Amino acid sequence: MANIVAIVGRPNVGKSTLFNRLTESRKAIVDDFSGVTRDRHYEVADWIGKKFTVIDTGGFVHGSDDVFEEAIRDQVHIAIEEASVIIFMVDVTTGITDLDDEIADLLRRTSKPVYVVANKVDHAKLHHDSAEFYAFGLGEIYNVSSATGSGTGELLDAVVSNFPDEEEEDETPLPKVAIVGRPNVGKSSMTNALLGVDRNIVTDVAGTTRDSIRIHYNQFGHEFLMIDTAGLRRKSKVSEDIEFYSVMRTIKALEDSDVVVLMLDANDGIEGQDINIFHLAEKNKKGVLIVVNKWDTIEKDNKTMKEFEARIKEKIAPFTDVPIIFTSVTEKQRIFRVVEKAMEIFQNKTKKIPTSKLNEVMLEIIENYPPPSIKGKYIKIKYATQLPGRSPMFAFFCNLPQYIKEPYRRFVENKLREHFDFNGVPIQVFFRQK
Ligand code: GDP
Ligand code: GDP
Repeated sequence: MANIVAIVGRPNVGKSTLFNRLTESRKAIVDDFSGVTRDRHYEVADWIGKKFTVIDTGGFVHGSDDVFEEAIRDQVHIAIEEASVIIFMVDVTTGITDLDDEIADLLRRTSKPVYVVANKVDHAKLHHDSAEFYAFGLGEIYNVSSATGSGTGELLDAVVSNFPDEEEEDETPLPKVAIVGRPNVGKSSMTNALLGVDRNIVTDVAGTTRDSIRIHYNQFGHEFLMIDTAGLRRKSKVSEDIEFYSVMRTIKALEDSDVVVLMLDANDGIEGQDINIFHLAEKNKKGVLIVVNKWDTIEKDNKTMKEFEARIKEKIAPFTDVPIIFTSVTEKQRIFRVVEKAMEIFQNKTKKIPTSKLNEVMLEIIENYPPPSIKGKYIKIKYATQLPGRSPMFAFFCNLPQYIKEPYRRFVENKLREHFDFNGVPIQVFFRQK
């Protein structure tokens, strides 16, 4: 199940300000590590323990006024089809405009939850001004000030009430693999080559409402479900809408999968959008495999692959324990490696390290390199265990967990990777009071 919250509304009402507020804690972390500026219009957010992806639709609109009015209308359509919850933002300082009315018209036709948010309610005295928005006929008005954060808690309480408490267990024990990537990198070609059939389906703008399609793969000793994004295409005059739509589909497929195959075109390398998807996969605790396709089109010598790999790793740091495969779908080069590797990653993601083995290996390492003492206090790690969960999580029990800093956590993570093979898998390491 994908929990996607789309923020829609005309320009300048404050969509990106709200987006930044809802995702700010995570943004800071990501930006510290990756040296590249990324277009960040979607990001994982977290409220009272419930995780969801927020999309700022405004980030997908550029260009002249008439283009963007059309783009905005199209995006509201896409948001209605693809998002789980819609936040419709308006500006209390300007009141209702024609475009607001048009958007409201579209939103009245959906049965999905829509929250009308009156933004820029910076002072209590503006509260009653927002009453005019009841005219939309879309129910309650949430008064917020995205700039200060006031009112956003109430809004989030309402938004997350739509999401289940616990991620319900999936009915299938089979690995789920999604091939994602920008348009034209070769996703459909790869899917077709693996399945041995052509499954190009083109849908019109009106589109069919379908969640990601699962294709059963059972060949050459491997069985899994392919989460298909490649088969569905949307025609539109507006390129931003194609991008927006493809991002929506990608997020859904990603959330529905165990292993994400991030496909790149060797001619373009890894770019902002790819890195964004990579981090989304990492934050959602998905296995990741990077596939550099169209390798046949690259002029190369015996160093090219290594250089390519180094450049990618630099950009995906700090999570670099990720396999990279160079393929050519047209020349059927290393295609089957993709399947094998994806299955290995699934094994790595789901394996359980016996507690005795874990302690035997890790306690010796920790003894030789204990966490640095702080203010004369010695930190003693006594015991480690893998926690139950859908991705690897480890707890290390100690006397003063609050004194263990990020570099040491990273050291422990690296040692776990070195000794137990978690290639392609995000792992979590916690220090807890024993
Ligand atoms: P978007 O085009 O809808 O994404 O709007 P932006 O987030 O870029 O905001 C447009 C302008 O409104 C910017 O100048 C923001 O600083 C301002 N703004 C956003 N939220 C608030 C708010 O809560 N109060 C006030 N006074 N200004 C805000
Ligand atoms: P998608 O949009 O990611 O699904 O990409 P497609 O599978 O539709 O491929 C886009 C274009 O790239 C098509 O013309 C493919 O024939 C071509 N293509 C796909 N894989 C390769 C490859 O490995 N090498 C070369 N040279 N072209 C490829």
